[in-house]
Amino acid sequence: MANISEKLNEAFNIQIREELESGYIYLGMAAWFEERSLGNLATWFDKQAAEEFAHAMKLKSHILERGGSVHYQALAEQKQDWNSIMEIVEATLEHEQHITKKIIELYELAQDLKEYSSYPLLLWFIEEQVEEEDNASSLIDKLKGYKNDFNFDHHIERVEE
Ligand code: MG
Repeated sequence: MANISEKLNEAFNIQIREELESGYIYLGMAAWFEERSLGNLATWFDKQAAEEFAHAMKLKSHILERGGSVHYQALAEQKQDWNSIMEIVEATLEHEQHITKKIIELYELAQDLKEYSSYPLLLWFIEEQVEEEDNASSLIDKLKGYKNDFNFDHHIERVEE
């Protein structure tokens, strides 16, 4: 029996699409880097994409654990033509800020609906977004240090958390 409200269930399904689309955006960025033989950045963004898919799966499990139903919505084609590394890393930060806004809206909806059982998951996502925004900001800061140079790639390493 469903104990999650229809309204929150629907909002979670929308967030699943947001996470999958985030992954889709980062796959496109990774391919852009790989095409230019910027292997470390390509790996960084491929791993970022994998994280986004894991976020979608976390939401899926939560919906099902609460007796709801999962509906995978159609994904939109994402921007894949970029002019510079800086453009990509700035778009990354901007996108993560957008996702943070979406997560906060979800948390506010859960509060309005008194869906206490979803608070811990949403608080996890809120904390995760602090890290996501920080990661993107760090990329921008590092890139500024390398004057938007392709050598930047040699200084990128992604360590598994
Ligand atoms: Mg995410």
